[in-house]
Amino acid sequence: MAKKRTLPEINEKIKKGTATVLTVQDLIDRLSDGEKVQFDDVDVVTTATKALMSGIAGIFSFRLSAPKKIRKFIEVSLNGVAAFPGPCPNEFLGIVDLILYGTTLSNTREEYSGGTLFRDLVEGKTINIVAKSIEGNTIEKDITLDDMQFARMMGTRQAIKNYFAMINPTNESVETIFSVLPFEGNNSQVTFSGCGALNPFQNDPKAEVFGVGTQILVNGGIGYIYGPGTRNDRLKPNMQTIADFKGMKSEYMGAFQTSFGLENICSIAAPIPILNENIFNNINKSDKDVPLTLLNVVGRSKMGKITYGDVWDNNFKVKFDPKKCVDCEECPVDAKCPTNAFDMKNGINRSRCFNCGTCVVVCPKDAFEVDLKTIKFEGKDIPIVLRQSDRHGAIKLAEELKNMILKQKFKLKTPTAKLEFNPKVF
Ligand code: SF4
Ligand code: SF4
Repeated sequence: MAKKRTLPEINEKIKKGTATVLTVQDLIDRLSDGEKVQFDDVDVVTTATKALMSGIAGIFSFRLSAPKKIRKFIEVSLNGVAAFPGPCPNEFLGIVDLILYGTTLSNTREEYSGGTLFRDLVEGKTINIVAKSIEGNTIEKDITLDDMQFARMMGTRQAIKNYFAMINPTNESVETIFSVLPFEGNNSQVTFSGCGALNPFQNDPKAEVFGVGTQILVNGGIGYIYGPGTRNDRLKPNMQTIADFKGMKSEYMGAFQTSFGLENICSIAAPIPILNENIFNNINKSDKDVPLTLLNVVGRSKMGKITYGDVWDNNFKVKFDPKKCVDCEECPVDAKCPTNAFDMKNGINRSRCFNCGTCVVVCPKDAFEVDLKTIKFEGKDIPIVLRQSDRHGAIKLAEELKNMILKQKFKLKTPTAKLEFNPKVF
């Protein structure tokens, strides 16, 4: 008979300190060391992803003036990033409600977007607000996240069940959101996205566990799934999420400079209580089990198929050896690092580094080290030049969630409804 356990049974074990909670990475490591791990050996696994995610917006509410003075605000920007005032007009309250897109660029700051702003808010930095009222008055004010009565991050399409690798078969380089440097042609480079075997939906592909109301971590803070996201289908499930900015950790978020503009970084960790053997069997055993499709970056036609085992193999963290650095007159890493994580004086700022590998490609003296790997394509070895997901950061978040569950700082609850994905594949 198929084995089962209930969520109250798991929660009781957690309370008694007898539950076994593993990250998917722990499980992969144990299995690759030859250990046999079965349903009886694990009560909960934690999954995670840290990646570029464009469908992010902030919902904010804060006071800008005393009541009665202003009828309503019609234009508001935060550090020059324009927001949409409303939908609540808050007539004569002096309070503004607004929605701000993570991808909107600042009108006043270079290389600054909503994603940069979200990170600055979480870091406690002062934000400059400029607001125009319907009467034509302009109010300017400096505030911090603590001054906001309401500040939540909404994700319209998060934690997609992995993504794609890209290659450029044309004979010209392309500037695209899938590269940091111009993407060279003639099938000479590959970039890819996706945390492979660690990805949440990869381990719960039919959403048997994740549902409406499932508690998760968004950028290290408590958040919730509230439905399937945009452009979902049964083969590419994703989630809509909501989470309080207060409680997030800046190392898991921010902006990432591609050769076609700024994208947002977001990190999500989700627990999977092992309620039955089917759920356990869905947990990935290796990155080789997870397919990765290779697409033409121009038009997205299919070019080939590899697996995440071809791109991830304990090669997660990028290291810097200052002894190999020769102090070039103009350091290309300082100029091209997509998260501003490197300068020659301080080396790698770990709270900003995305482990993307760009420094490994552009430093002429091999001062940076990671095995970016090559893939076989049409009989040739093609080098990977960019990882647009940070598996090292995702493992860290999955570890944080594991420890929160074990310390009873994160409760496992039954969702209120199933996630219904579009049966039609788009
Ligand atoms: S490119 Fe490499 S060697 Fe040159 S300054 Fe930068 S880190 Fe040092
Ligand atoms: S891996 Fe290198 S280029 Fe990428 S974010 Fe870290 S320091 Fe910057």
